[in-house]
Amino acid sequence: MSGDAPPDLPLVVGGVGVAPVSWVAREDPARPEVVVGRVAAGDADVADAAIRSAEAAFGGWSARPVAERGALLRAAVGAVAVQADDLAVLLARELGKVLPDCRGEIAFAQAFVAYCTEVAERSLVERVTDDAEGRLTVHLEPYGVVGAITPWNAPVILALLKVAPALATGNTVVVKPSPLVPLTVTQVLHTMAARLPTGVLTVVNGGGDVGAAIAGHPLVRKVAFTGGGRIARAVMRSAAEQLTPLVLELGGNDPAVFLDDADLGDETLHRAVLGTFLTGGQVCMAAKRLYVHRSRLEEFTERYVAVARTALVLGDPLQEGVTVGPMASRAQVEHVSGLVADARRRGGTVTPLGTLADEALVAGGYFLRPVLVTGVTDDAPIVATEQFGPAVPLLAFDDEDEVVARANAGQGGLASSVWSRDEDRAFALARRIRAGFTFVNTHNRTGLALRAPFGGMGRSGFGREFGEEGVREYVQTHAVNLPATVRGGAGSASAYPGT
Ligand code: NAD
Repeated sequence: MSGDAPPDLPLVVGGVGVAPVSWVAREDPARPEVVVGRVAAGDADVADAAIRSAEAAFGGWSARPVAERGALLRAAVGAVAVQADDLAVLLARELGKVLPDCRGEIAFAQAFVAYCTEVAERSLVERVTDDAEGRLTVHLEPYGVVGAITPWNAPVILALLKVAPALATGNTVVVKPSPLVPLTVTQVLHTMAARLPTGVLTVVNGGGDVGAAIAGHPLVRKVAFTGGGRIARAVMRSAAEQLTPLVLELGGNDPAVFLDDADLGDETLHRAVLGTFLTGGQVCMAAKRLYVHRSRLEEFTERYVAVARTALVLGDPLQEGVTVGPMASRAQVEHVSGLVADARRRGGTVTPLGTLADEALVAGGYFLRPVLVTGVTDDAPIVATEQFGPAVPLLAFDDEDEVVARANAGQGGLASSVWSRDEDRAFALARRIRAGFTFVNTHNRTGLALRAPFGGMGRSGFGREFGEEGVREYVQTHAVNLPATVRGGAGSASAYPGT
């Protein structure tokens, strides 16, 4: 993979190369005329072959002791660590995310696999009861073949969030990455798959037809999807054909609430700024609406803009010191620019943030200067919808009941944050926000924990990733029960009166 030639990543099913149906090329979003690499893509038939191979591998993989699976998985991801430097550069080039963050994304694979294998070993324990009520055992079983359909904005992490818990608990997995940013995730998963028994882990690149074929396949027993609400509905319809259960991790319009006693020091505001603008704002849990107590509004605005001046440096994601790269696509640039233009038409003020590291480069690629939008109301689309980009609205509030109601407006509820010097006050307010996750005094990546379950409420999805809950998504209980009432020929009395 190293060297100057763009990588061509093959299609591998059942451990052997398969003729691609097409090739998907990925351009460098900082220099769109440059192709970073290509992946071989399949179609519904290739997806079917991959699922059958995963089904064939399931019996052997699930029968292995959990500790043995864990050891194999840790060794597989260890082989990824060896290529970490090259992989981080490849990810920075195809996604436009800055290099230190790409290094973090690759390193996360190690940490997350270690965590999931440890949780699986600790929790896949049979519960045995033998008492006056009878004999009961409850054990946890994997589903079978898991279909993982993933987006482009953190492609390695978002695939690993499904692959690691599913494999650790004995499922086999077929992954369909997003065709927008497919190179690094394919390379990572191929590296792991080559060190696991054939069929345990397969990648099938392609578009919506491949995703639909996976979601609706009769041999797929669970579907794990991360992406937008529109495609989630299509995935759910496909899965409904076979009554296949799902985990859906969707978007959100995540509020950050700064109470009147919030610390507004440099370090805190640095976290707040990056909480919105990491990966150019293209993060599901980014702070997408800032609510600041009216008594601190002026101070906050001034300090936020001042901290952003050094915290946000727009430019080449591979250049040292750059903290915000290009957006992933022209369409994202147009979407966010449209929301900002609309805010301006509504009388809003748009303040450019940060500095430009390289004006010529920024003029040519899919770059968008980070901005703060003030002077708009909650019904403006920049406030009411998920922008998924480097433009954030700032709004004033007067009291806690009001801000809770405004934070909870809308159909979703993914992440949120509360900022206060008083931890107890922050935790109490956090519980009133309808969201699957609330950060305190931080927002976004710096606020996550391996042990903290992450996921949405309402239209932001269901099911969880991270935490023990994220591992439990991939197992189901099987109870074996002998009631005392029938034990030793005691008769046929039922536990339920009248039945
Ligand atoms: P998307 O919904 O457009 O695509 C997601 C995946 O679905 C891709 O692999 C795509 O090829 C595939 N797909 C397309 N049509 C399909 C079909 N008919 N059947 C099955 N699969 C199909 O999402 P995206 O643009 O790649 O990602 C951005 C969205 O993801 C944002 O809304 C963001 O908020 C969300 N997201 C959520 C989380 C989370 O954890 N909750 C994390 C990251 C991103």
